[in-house]
Amino acid sequence: MAEKRDYYEVLGVDRNATDEELKKAYRILAKKYHPDVNDTPEAETLFKEIGEAYSVLSDPDKRRQYDRFGFDGLNGAFSSGFAGGFNPFDIFNDLFGGGFGSGFSSGFSRRNAPMRGRDINQSIKISFEEAAFGTKKTITVQRSESCEQCEATGAKDGKAIKTCPQCKGTGEMRVQQNTLFGQMITATTCNKCNGKGTVIEELCEHCKGAGTIRVTKKIEVNIPKGIDNNQIISLRGQGDAGKNGGPEGDLRVHITVTPHEIFTRENTTVYCTIPVTYAQAVLGAEITVPTLDGDIKYNIPAGTQTGTTFTLKNRGIHFLNKESRGDQIFEVYVDVPKKLNREQKKALEAYAALFGESTDKDKKKKRLF
Ligand SMILES: [Zn+2]
Ligand SMILES: [Zn+2]
Repeated sequence: MAEKRDYYEVLGVDRNATDEELKKAYRILAKKYHPDVNDTPEAETLFKEIGEAYSVLSDPDKRRQYDRFGFDGLNGAFSSGFAGGFNPFDIFNDLFGGGFGSGFSSGFSRRNAPMRGRDINQSIKISFEEAAFGTKKTITVQRSESCEQCEATGAKDGKAIKTCPQCKGTGEMRVQQNTLFGQMITATTCNKCNGKGTVIEELCEHCKGAGTIRVTKKIEVNIPKGIDNNQIISLRGQGDAGKNGGPEGDLRVHITVTPHEIFTRENTTVYCTIPVTYAQAVLGAEITVPTLDGDIKYNIPAGTQTGTTFTLKNRGIHFLNKESRGDQIFEVYVDVPKKLNREQKKALEAYAALFGESTDKDKKKKRLF
């Protein structure tokens, strides 16, 4: 923001100006820069500046504060631009009487600008495998579509439309007033056509004049392989119909992947854990490992420890929209049996004895004898 100009300078008066002189200066300037009569880009800013200066200098208390302390004396009343309820039109109307626009003419807007339709959000659940390999799902959405019978105009057969008789199609009303300082024109939105410039003579029976109708639609969603939990698929133009010829919104499909019994996933890497027996871990063995493509055989080496991980190349999830895949990593752990039959127990005790290990069985014996 440019530096604030001194209020006396803004109004072009000297510091001893009387109330009458202030008022006169304000009237002349306000008349020159009122946005309804002056459409140069700087008029609006100047009009506010003049209003602010006059509102301060015409108030004896504020003027005294300003004379002594400058802008600081005004407790920041105007420090953040023209916020804080200050409206330069109020000051203007106080002096000249009402009847003028209470807002800037730039606030006037035509209501027939094209507007994009709303996005529709919908979520679907898919399985882990579906996320890995891609799938097609049909979802049902409620959306508004352009009425075909009236070509979205809302008028019967799309033809029962005429130019608004009140605004002659301009969408705005211009009110001319003779005032103290000449003619002023105020523009407002035409209330007959709401700024559209046209009015409907007879409503379309199909959409009752709305131009759109609610429909229930089945839409097939292509879910690409590699998609992950919480990702969104955007289907352009499958949302609600736009207004005034604006484009349709999008359909946003939020993906939830249900957890898998065996696998977990991080990006394209698939993880799982595989139990092995103590003997398998010690001696090495061919074990069965589940993958997304079905079970495979894998040889773990002798002396495999609990927590050892093995990588299966290219058995993971597809990179999104690519043919290449991530890896699968499985971790083995030694599964301790909870129940043994008599023979198994004997064998294990014999094994323990061979290694000189003390077992629970030994303790019991000691206690007995
Ligand atoms: Zn109109
Ligand atoms: Zn219609």
